[in-house]
Amino acid sequence: MDISFDNTEFAFAYKTDKDLKKASLLFSTMNIGWLVKLGTRLTPWAIKAKLPINGIIKNTIFKQFVGGESLEETKNVVNTLRHYNVQAILDYGVEGKEGEDNFEQATNEFIKVIEYAATQKNIPFISVKLTGFARFGLLEKLDAAANNKDGAEATINTDVLSNEEKAELEKVSVRLIKICDVASKNDIGVLIDAEETWIQDPVDALTMQMMELFNKQKVVVYNTVQLYRADRLQFLKDCFEQAQIKQFILGTKLVRGAYLEKERKRAKEMNYPSPIQPDKPATDNDYNAAIEFCIPRLENIFLIVASHNEFSNLYTTQLLQKQFGSVNHKHIHFSQLYGMSDNITFNLAKAGCSVSKYLPFGPIKDVIPYLMRRAQENSSISGHTGRELSLIKKELKRRAAPQRSP
Ligand SMILES: Cc1cc2nc3c(=O)[nH]c(=O)nc-3n(C[C@H](O)[C@H](O)[C@H](O)COP(=O)(O)OP(=O)(O)OC[C@H]3O[C@@H](n4cnc5c(N)ncnc54)[C@H](O)[C@@H]3O)c2cc1C
Repeated sequence: MDISFDNTEFAFAYKTDKDLKKASLLFSTMNIGWLVKLGTRLTPWAIKAKLPINGIIKNTIFKQFVGGESLEETKNVVNTLRHYNVQAILDYGVEGKEGEDNFEQATNEFIKVIEYAATQKNIPFISVKLTGFARFGLLEKLDAAANNKDGAEATINTDVLSNEEKAELEKVSVRLIKICDVASKNDIGVLIDAEETWIQDPVDALTMQMMELFNKQKVVVYNTVQLYRADRLQFLKDCFEQAQIKQFILGTKLVRGAYLEKERKRAKEMNYPSPIQPDKPATDNDYNAAIEFCIPRLENIFLIVASHNEFSNLYTTQLLQKQFGSVNHKHIHFSQLYGMSDNITFNLAKAGCSVSKYLPFGPIKDVIPYLMRRAQENSSISGHTGRELSLIKKELKRRAAPQRSP
C-alpha cells in the first residue's frame, strides 16, 4: 500500500475552518525568527512576574499544542482523535517544579493519569519525565559519578551521595516503581522521556532497571533514545544486548532530540566536546539506522517512532511492508506531538497504522517550558514551519474552492 502524507483533507478533517485560520496565523507568527527569540525569552519572565498574558497564551500557542489545563479538559481532544482512529499519549506536562511535596503530588498525578487512561480505548501510553519527581541536582550529581559513562550497563554509583541524598534517591526509586506497577496492572505503557545529557545516565540506568522488573512478559516501560546524540545508535544496540542477556523485552522510543541549542551552548561554555551530531544529515542517518536496527528485531523490541520527519515515517512503513507484508505490526507504534504534522498522523491512521498524538496537559504556567520548545521547533530557525504552514494553506484553499458537482 502506498502511503502519502500530502492528503490535507484527511489531515485536517477534525479542524473547523476557524481552527485552521487560527493555526495559519500562529504558524505565520512563529515563522518570524526574531519574534520567537524575543517571545521565548520574555514569556517565562512575564509569567513569573504575573503579567496578565494567560488569556493570549491560552487562545493561541496553548490551544495548538496542549490538550487542556487539567486531565478532565483533555477529554474532548481524546474523543475527537478516537473518531479518526488516532490514539493519545497523555503527558502531565509540569516541568521545573522541585521539592518533596511537588514530587509526591506529581507521582499521584501520574498514577491518576494511568488509571484514567485504562478507562479509555485510545490511550495506550502515558509519558513521564523523571525530573517530575526527582531533583535535577541529584540526577546531575549521579550523572557526573556514573561509572559506566553513557553505556547501557550504567549502574548508579551512590558513593558520592550523602546519607540524606541516598534516602532521596530511594524515594525516587520507590515513586518510579509505584508508577510502573500501577501501569503494569492497568496494561498502560510508561514512556520515560530523555532529557539533558548531564542528567541522562541515571535516567537511563533507572529505566533499564524498571524494564528488567516489568518487561519480562509484556512491555510496560520504554526508554527514549535521542539520535541527535552521536553516541546513541551504539547505546541502542548495547541496550538491546543487555535486554537479551537479562531476558527482558526492550521498549524504545526513538526521537531526534529537543535540547539541541542548550546542549551545544553548555558544551561550549564548559569547554567539552558537544555530544550532539555535527549536522542534521548525521542525525537523520542515525535516526534511520536506528529504525533499520529495530525492525528486524521486533520480536524482542517494542518500537515507537516518535518523529515529524516524513522520510523517517515513510521509510518505517516501507521496511515494515518489506519485512512483514503489512504496515501494521503489534510491536510498532508511531507518534507525533499534538499540534504538529497532522498530515503524517491522520494519513498513517487512515492506512491502518497504530499512531498517536502526544498530548500534554497542565496549568499554563507549568507547561511554559514545553510551549517554548515548540515555538523554537516551529520557528524559521528550524525550518519546520514552512511545511506546516503550506499544508494548512493548501487545505484552506481546497475548502474554499467551489465543490464540483458529481
Ligand atoms: C511522541 C514524541 C515524544 C518525544 N519525546 C521526546 C523526549 O523524550 N526527549 C526529547 O529530547 N525529545 C522528545 N521529542 C521531541 C523531539 O525530539 C522533536 O520533536 C524532534 O527532535 C523533532 O525532530 P523530528 O524527528 O520530528 O524530525 P525533523 O524535524 O526532521 O528534525 C529536527 C530535529 O533534528 C535535529 N537537528 C536539527 N538541526 C540539527 C543540526 N544542525 N545538527 C544535528 N541535529 C539537528 C534536532 O533534534 C531537531 O529537533 C518527542 C517527540 C515526539 C513526537
